[in-house]
Amino acid sequence: LRPVSGASFGTPVPLAELPAVVSADLGVPTVHRTVVDYANLDHGASTPALVSVKHAVDTALRTYSSVHRGNGYASRVTSRWYEEARQEVRRFVGARDGDHVVFTRNTTDSFNLLARALPRETEVFVFEAEHHATLLPWAKGRTTRLPVPGSLADARALLAQALEQSTARNRLVVLCGASNVTGELWPVRELADVARRHGARVALDAAQLAPHRAVDLDALGVDYVAFSGHKLYAPFGAGVLAGRGDWLDAAAPYLAGGGATAAVTELGTTWQRGAARHEAGSPNVIGAVALAAACAALTEHRDAVEAHEAALGRRLAEGLAAIDCVETYSLFAADHERVPVAAFTVEGLDSSLVSAALSAEHGIGVRDGKFCAHLLVDALLDDPYAAGPATAVRVSLGLANTPEHVERFLAALASLAAEGP
Ligand code: PLP
Repeated sequence: LRPVSGASFGTPVPLAELPAVVSADLGVPTVHRTVVDYANLDHGASTPALVSVKHAVDTALRTYSSVHRGNGYASRVTSRWYEEARQEVRRFVGARDGDHVVFTRNTTDSFNLLARALPRETEVFVFEAEHHATLLPWAKGRTTRLPVPGSLADARALLAQALEQSTARNRLVVLCGASNVTGELWPVRELADVARRHGARVALDAAQLAPHRAVDLDALGVDYVAFSGHKLYAPFGAGVLAGRGDWLDAAAPYLAGGGATAAVTELGTTWQRGAARHEAGSPNVIGAVALAAACAALTEHRDAVEAHEAALGRRLAEGLAAIDCVETYSLFAADHERVPVAAFTVEGLDSSLVSAALSAEHGIGVRDGKFCAHLLVDALLDDPYAAGPATAVRVSLGLANTPEHVERFLAALASLAAEGP
């Protein structure tokens, strides 16, 4: 990670206070036949690994064997690492007595697990602004979709009204921590209070929140939280569902198989209680160890991470607002608190062309499209079908980014916007 400097960024965060990312030192050729340092401004999709994560993985790869299935030295060490990783995640989310921490593949997997574990007669309430991972796993017929809200007051009112009308015995409200499109922080605590007043539980999609902010279950007032390792500076393939154990213990196992069973006889199968009930098969120990190492590093460096990202995010917002022909999008308000993520369009230019030009001409990686949040993007873009596909470009920053990356991006975008179609 390069030193953070630059007069317009507020107080620079000393390098030693930030967790370092593994650097690929990737030079990419541009169409102008020059090689530039690749700037990955797509942290919202997946993040590079932290150096501490790489160390943890290297160590775990040296001696590993089966988990909870052997009494040899390597098996016992591996089992211990796996359970220590679970304890680290428990601390990261502030798990309470009776909460389980289940290792999954990713956030999508976590919400599918929770959807299958809901007791009968549970009505789910979810805003259409959600990522598809959070919008789609719930059974049709017992899910109430709330429209994309136009303001915070609107979000509160829509939720309260829907809950008042519900006669279901159990209710689950599904909320997003930070939007993967606009970067805005949802008022989780406030909406969770509305849910609680109506006897509902709350599940939080923290896929975009956890890399940037603390995700304490109690402080946020939620019952469940889910997030992904690959968005948290760890590799792909490990995620978390953490939260209240009662529904999880009463549900059929997510996967049937070894490790989830307490006893199997000719008369039938007794399933484990606790996380193991939903973790059948040999687990992704290396992924869990990596994810836990990322949780530890982010907790240790929380203030520095937030300061670094706030500085980058401020400059990004300022810079985007200053470019003619560029429009940025907000769910709540332009000055609403957000993580360093922004969605924008350039007048007269297709979003896929903008992202292709940023990559090919400037060595800058961003994403274009609808970001697995089709209903939200359609709602944000005025008259989305008026001129070709309704898509936007998303720039999302994190620990591998420097002020120079942001300046390079803004200058590149300004030149593309000035050239026009
Ligand atoms: N929720 C949000 C807000 C996301 O941004 C994403 C991924 O982009 C997900 C959920 C799904 O995460 P995963 O693909 O790791 O399951």
